[in-house]
Amino acid sequence: MDSQLQQLHFVMVPFLGPGHIIPMIDMAILLAQRNVIVTIRAIESGQQINLLQVQFPSLQVGLPKGLESIDELLSHKDFVAKFFSGIQMLQEPVEKVLAEARPRPSCILSDKHVFWTAKTAEKFGIPWIIFDGMSCFTQVCTELLLASKVHESVCGSESFVVPGLPDPIEFTRAQLPRFVDAGSESPSVVGLLKKIREIEIGAYGIVINSFEELEKDYVKEFKKMKNDRVWCVGPLSSRNRDRLDMAQRGNNASIVQSRCLEWLDIQEPGSVIYACLGSLSSLAREQLIELALGLEASGHPFVWVVRAGSKQEEIEKWIVEDGLEERVQGRGLLVRGWAPQVLILSHSAIGGFLTHCGWNSTIEGICAGVPLITWPLFSEQFFNEKLVVQIVGTGVSVGSKTVVQLGEEEKAGVNVKREDVERAIKCIMCQGEEGETRRRKAKEFGEKATKAVEEGGSSYFNVTLLIEDIMKQANYQMF
Ligand code: UDP
Repeated sequence: MDSQLQQLHFVMVPFLGPGHIIPMIDMAILLAQRNVIVTIRAIESGQQINLLQVQFPSLQVGLPKGLESIDELLSHKDFVAKFFSGIQMLQEPVEKVLAEARPRPSCILSDKHVFWTAKTAEKFGIPWIIFDGMSCFTQVCTELLLASKVHESVCGSESFVVPGLPDPIEFTRAQLPRFVDAGSESPSVVGLLKKIREIEIGAYGIVINSFEELEKDYVKEFKKMKNDRVWCVGPLSSRNRDRLDMAQRGNNASIVQSRCLEWLDIQEPGSVIYACLGSLSSLAREQLIELALGLEASGHPFVWVVRAGSKQEEIEKWIVEDGLEERVQGRGLLVRGWAPQVLILSHSAIGGFLTHCGWNSTIEGICAGVPLITWPLFSEQFFNEKLVVQIVGTGVSVGSKTVVQLGEEEKAGVNVKREDVERAIKCIMCQGEEGETRRRKAKEFGEKATKAVEEGGSSYFNVTLLIEDIMKQANYQMF
């Protein structure tokens, strides 16, 4: 079996953004640990992983020099189309290198947003598998909504039940992602979303960063929809076992790891709220202030990852003038820039995670066994909130009602007030039976997550099934 496995060669193509690259790299390392040869664009590791380096043509498509990750775009709206045309231009150089690659690629495992890879796989006569950074719950909701179009006959704030789900789940139209309801999106973005959807339907299968125990009914439903070719292999973040590994995910951390850990070490176990709204979002100044004052008003110790994008200076000025940092000295740690999230979440001082419900953050929080305070912003994040609050039962919502599109944060203004943040934190941290039950459940899911990726666990088994499936396909092609 091992000598056969040596022949397998997975080519992995991530989309260029931290929330896409981080789990893809985890997946590459995981496959390499199982004796598969992996080629991925640019990573460093001691495993059997080849790096395929191609230059992102930022200048050619009219983007600033050196820009090659979606989190570096200051104004998302203006740059998205250019960014996608840059991604499109990578096809030719990547195919050139793959034509020479030995052993010959056995499959392409690609982010669905890099959709030219479907054509590449077709040219090479190998399976095209999507590595989609979303849960099975999201996938099932998306399929059912697109098929039923139930949302199309309601107005923005009116709620409706998603038909055909195992649980009675309600949404409003204002909470739906653009890939379900394009809303007032520009024709170019609508066209792009349509194209991605049309192409992804033809994928051979789909790899999911989740684990079966977390969303059993939805994994089952999604498998039914996709002829069983769904492999839940997560949580991928739990691959990061040692401190250095945990600290060095994504961008360079802006805070010295030891300072962060020393600060957490002196806090009571389970007492600290970690607040981070992902790698892309940057709320309006007034909204960030509400978040900060809500954290302060909760009375609990907190780590706040202050991410304000182009408003960073403005918010820094407010922090100084308001005197926030002084008032919360010893109780509040402000991290400017990139935080070592998985490392922080793994610390026993953390008692709750205030998250924007990006899927990576959501599953990292679940994996760490901490309850979540949910503040969905864009994309499928309201779906993730429903999963955590209503199905898994380990979250409390801050009560956000509408999607805040990237680049439209100013227009959205204040959706969540400081009292909402304060209330949700107090609810998560409360000592009563409700709080205890939530904490117990969160801990249990954290343990299940760890078991899932260990030998004998469901995700470990699914990686085996994926490898075996691709091996069958590869042998089939050889004869
Ligand atoms: N992340 C991090 N430090 C930060 C911000 C984000 O390590 O300061 C990581 C986080 O652990 C997660 C990813 O970046 O792995 C963010 O992905 P997610 O899907 O949660 O949200 P997105 O950033 O794509 O909105």
